Amino acid sequence: MGLSISPQCSILLFNYAIQTTSRRSAIMIEKLIFDLSRDGRKGYSLSGNDIPELSVEAVLPDKFLRTKPADLPEVPESEVVRHFIRLSNMNYHVDKNMYPLGSCTMKYNPKVNDAACDLAGFSELHPLQPEETVQGALQMMYELSGMLAEIAGMAAVTLQPAAGAHGELTGILLIKKYHEARGSKRSKLLVVDSAHGTNPASAAIAGYEIISVSSNADGRTDLGDLKAKLDGEVAALMLTNPNTIGLFEKDILTIAQMVHENGSLLYMDGANMNALLGITRPGDMGFDVVHYNLHKSFSAPHGGGGPGSGPVGVCEKLIPYMPVPVIDRIETPEGSSYRLNTNHPESIGRMMNFYGNFAVLIRAYTYIRMLGGAGLRRVSENAIINANYLLARLDSRYDLPYPKPVLHEFCLSGDRQKKAHGVKTLDIAKRLLDYGYHAPTIYFPLIVCEALMIEPTETETRETLDLFAEALLCIADEAENSPELILSAPVNTPVKRLDEAQASRQLNICCQG
Ligand SMILES: *Cc1c(COP(=O)(O)O)cnc(C)c1O
Repeated sequence: MGLSISPQCSILLFNYAIQTTSRRSAIMIEKLIFDLSRDGRKGYSLSGNDIPELSVEAVLPDKFLRTKPADLPEVPESEVVRHFIRLSNMNYHVDKNMYPLGSCTMKYNPKVNDAACDLAGFSELHPLQPEETVQGALQMMYELSGMLAEIAGMAAVTLQPAAGAHGELTGILLIKKYHEARGSKRSKLLVVDSAHGTNPASAAIAGYEIISVSSNADGRTDLGDLKAKLDGEVAALMLTNPNTIGLFEKDILTIAQMVHENGSLLYMDGANMNALLGITRPGDMGFDVVHYNLHKSFSAPHGGGGPGSGPVGVCEKLIPYMPVPVIDRIETPEGSSYRLNTNHPESIGRMMNFYGNFAVLIRAYTYIRMLGGAGLRRVSENAIINANYLLARLDSRYDLPYPKPVLHEFCLSGDRQKKAHGVKTLDIAKRLLDYGYHAPTIYFPLIVCEALMIEPTETETRETLDLFAEALLCIADEAENSPELILSAPVNTPVKRLDEAQASRQLNICCQG
């Protein structure tokens, strides 16, 4: 029996190919949910009422009543599910494939974290419930703070900040308060030039003048430049360790001593904690403040809009300024209980409504409890091995601006491809989409030209790393032999090359114009 495809089938296949490859058709075919609506095609049915019916007019004041019905789409359940599944297929996510976005730690998030969030004892709480009815939630937060403090070697941790950048702002406000309490008004914050852009931004929001400290030829903080810039106006130095090119600041103890002798504090951007877990601790290196990114190192989904969490750990002398409420544990003969304490007169105040992004805290708590101390150490060891393995597969075909080895991430440069073949790093990133991968972080950090910054994370297998390496090696070949393929990429994605500048200058989120 020979296989033949009927004319109708080939048309269907052809349409599907168009649907998944052509920008115009994809947008035309996937309509807005409002356009799928047909009057009366409701996707729900309600059971009968067993209490007397009242009209809304009888219970709501006139000013709250609608003058015309809400414009809600009427779509059956099957169409709702298919619509959103189709949209999710057009998207890229960490449950689909490796997500090598340097500095962002896009690791796979174990589903057990979500199962813990779904427990009714957590998911059905209201933030205004009386303390005695939420003892379990308070205990979880109290214990999570303690575990994070131990992991980073800090004296206390607040869970309030909603993201890494918000943690930075919190940490800087703590530093500011510390100096003010000593009657000193220092006006400058030092930030190393390889830092994440949020560092200078947070410092500026807190009212500081930002002074940039250079990196040396090794990719690490230039001690001579640091020394020259440390004066009586410096409130703190913000440092990322390992830094954003994945290199450990080997002189960290000297740096801490220099900063402290100047009466300044040392802030650690701890978003790169994925390289340190169970191996070394910021507190032991002399850092006074550190923020964590629970949505990176401690495994909560992020990117694409999920909420984050950026707890802040502090050394002993900053404890009085911590945000309120602080969770206290009270020991009585009957056992422990927990309470929210706002009686901290020197506190910088609240950094967040209620208690932070609670569901992200549950995920981090679950993740840490599942792995334990030894498991956390293996996370970092594997993250480091994966990064060095991938780097070893790639560094003969792309420029490596700073010498190996690295920690959990590395930075390549597309300078060779640009100079010899007119293929920029942006083009290489776009071509990777055709091979079925999310692009790495590009053009960051700013100290590397044509930067391609790659963080594989510990959750990828050797086979996945090999396939990703093959894709980048194929692209290096294409750059030499057929650069036009790269310059016109992507061709296999639902939308082709977008004008990113126009998208941010002319924000138009309403397709119906
Ligand atoms: C992600 C990141 C931040 C900012 O964290 P957000 O949660 O995105 O605000 C800061 N520093 C470094 C090094 C990071 O990787």
